[in-house]
Amino acid sequence: MKAILKETAGPGFVMKEVSKPEKLGPREVLVKIRRASICGTDVHIYKWDEWSQSRINPPLIVGHEMAGEVVAIGDAVTQVKVGDLVSAETHIPCEHCVQCKTGRMHVCKNLEILGVDRNGVFTEYAVIPETVLWRFSKEIPLDYASVMEPFGNAIHTALVTDLTGKKVLITGAGPIGLMAIQVAKASGASLVITSEVDPNRIQMAKENGADIVINPAEQDLVKSIYTITDDGVDILLEMSGNKKALEDGLKCVTMGGEASLLGIFGGSIDINIDSLVIMRGITIYGITGRKMFDTWKVADELLRSKKVDLSKVVTHVIPFENWEKGFELMLNKQCGKVVLNLD
Ligand code: NAD
Ligand code: ZN
Repeated sequence: MKAILKETAGPGFVMKEVSKPEKLGPREVLVKIRRASICGTDVHIYKWDEWSQSRINPPLIVGHEMAGEVVAIGDAVTQVKVGDLVSAETHIPCEHCVQCKTGRMHVCKNLEILGVDRNGVFTEYAVIPETVLWRFSKEIPLDYASVMEPFGNAIHTALVTDLTGKKVLITGAGPIGLMAIQVAKASGASLVITSEVDPNRIQMAKENGADIVINPAEQDLVKSIYTITDDGVDILLEMSGNKKALEDGLKCVTMGGEASLLGIFGGSIDINIDSLVIMRGITIYGITGRKMFDTWKVADELLRSKKVDLSKVVTHVIPFENWEKGFELMLNKQCGKVVLNLD
């Protein structure tokens, strides 16, 4: 079978023939991958940045976002059957640490990530533990089911707060920020303002329903927000991983408001927590992954009921063999989500 591999320590990937997995553990499932989508993490591994060098052990089949069909199951599998269409939670919990035992599998101490710590889904057949599979509703097109995992990031970040009737600022309109715009709208936010510096993504933020889009490279974000809202926004959803966006985003939050942080800063950042957070009584949430499986249920419902429409987020569906083009699009940010079609 064909697979996209990080074959050796260094930049880039190769597409190669590898042997199809034959043996399944008792609780493992063989999934025929039908769609797989490219995440920022895959791009980090492709570039072979500092984080990847410390974490990835080549050779490794990369990729973690997918939609596929169950084609074989291990002896003890009970949660799925052959023929089921599934997507996957990519954070594989150990199921025995105290977090797992107390309903917080998303912060499992012994987490393994698909396509990072073990072979992933940029291939024709992948072995995935049954625990992380999600049988998505049949009304959801495969192209959208493939991106349910990052969509779950948007949902998890947004819905730790109650957005109903609230003014919301989303900093960063990458694929996850774009999806968060729609989640905020669907949740009854009264005003959704987005900040973004990339012209392409500014356009996409508008197309995904942001009421106002501000380019902080051209306009002072804080001044603009207080002009528009008088009192600042109730909630900040930080989805850029940019220090200035976080700092200014926090300044935009009204006294006693909330900030939910998803963006990864890639190291220490220096901001004044006293004046930005403590003295202003801001509640901060750190978000990792998705809740298993509360977030997935919401994701499924929002897509099934078409309360969220991902047609303006999934901008490219391309044949698996053209994966290099997909990475080129991601590297240049000329896209929302890029989905690889393996059918
Ligand atoms: P992305 O990199 O595609 O999007 C980030 C966007 O922020 C880009 O469009 C960029 O132009 C924009 N941006 C940069 N500087 C900005 C600024 N000063 N103001 C406003 N916008 C700015 O990433 P994504 O895939 O949409 O993911 C969003 C963030 O979430 C990333 O930082 C990613 O690493 C992180 N992430 C976290 C988790 C988690 O579990 N915590 C999971 C997935 C992704
Ligand atoms: Zn655990």
